[in-house]
Amino acid sequence: MQFDDDAQLDSGQVRDERGSGPARGGGPGGGLGGGFGLPGGRGGLIGLILTLIAAVVGVPLALTDGSGGTSNALSSAGSGDVSGTVSSGSLAAKCRTGADANVSDDCRVVAVVNSVQNYWTGFFAANNQKYPQAQTVIFSGATRTGCGTASSAVGPFYCPADRTVYLDLGFWQELKTKFGARGGPFAQAYVLAHEYGHHVQNLTGALRNSQSSQQGANSGAVRVELQADCYAGLWAHYATTTKDAYGRVLIKDLTKQDISDGLDAAAAVGDDRIQAQYQQRVTPETWTHGSAAQRQKWFLTGYQTGDFQSCDTFSGAV
Ligand SMILES: [Zn+2]
Repeated sequence: MQFDDDAQLDSGQVRDERGSGPARGGGPGGGLGGGFGLPGGRGGLIGLILTLIAAVVGVPLALTDGSGGTSNALSSAGSGDVSGTVSSGSLAAKCRTGADANVSDDCRVVAVVNSVQNYWTGFFAANNQKYPQAQTVIFSGATRTGCGTASSAVGPFYCPADRTVYLDLGFWQELKTKFGARGGPFAQAYVLAHEYGHHVQNLTGALRNSQSSQQGANSGAVRVELQADCYAGLWAHYATTTKDAYGRVLIKDLTKQDISDGLDAAAAVGDDRIQAQYQQRVTPETWTHGSAAQRQKWFLTGYQTGDFQSCDTFSGAV
């Protein structure tokens, strides 16, 4: 995945809260009153997720079911390419062009978010609808969101209540070490595009299906997740046509290897892979995101067809 060196980035779509602490997160629903301690091990993590869900306002949509391992939340956090206190203005200063996105993890987030939202803006406009942008917040360790206080252990997620994607860039490393993915720029892009898929579902109303039945291979939750994967593939289909604010193409090259890296990441976060690795037993009745094969299938469906309607994961078998 190569960005056009001269494409202009809109860093306003991404907010950098690293170093500012969870108090700055500021979602409308407030937080859980400062209790953002380390989830120690799996029990703690599950507890945290339950707390998040119970934290009203909205159910956060994470990339995985959260049972992926026992690492503590902060050990892998903050391993982006910046350390220490970062003011929210610094992305604007350093992420100006596609050339910046080609060399920096931070700026790549900005460029991918720009591309994904440019695609959806065009899609909604073509259907006489307005696409309200969703911000991405880069945080480190823990952050307060409209869905409650979240730690990095949850992984990247979309909060419907404040229409925001939350991401600790330490996850790029976890994708490799914890989930066994190859990683790479397009694996990162897949993750972001998946989260923005949830934003689109929030706009269309499809997100409601995740609340009807929470678990199981054919549950509404799994269907919602697979549709988000399909929407990620849909964006990938059109990625090299997305443009910056001046009409210049943002992504000039997307290779077979990139798509392969995306599929590899999609499989790595499949429920069966995670269960086989971390609970020794695969139990489809507890799936929340779908198997590796399902996640690949639906990403490919969107990617190969380029057809929004092909991403209907609700009417047939998945
Ligand atoms: Zn998801």
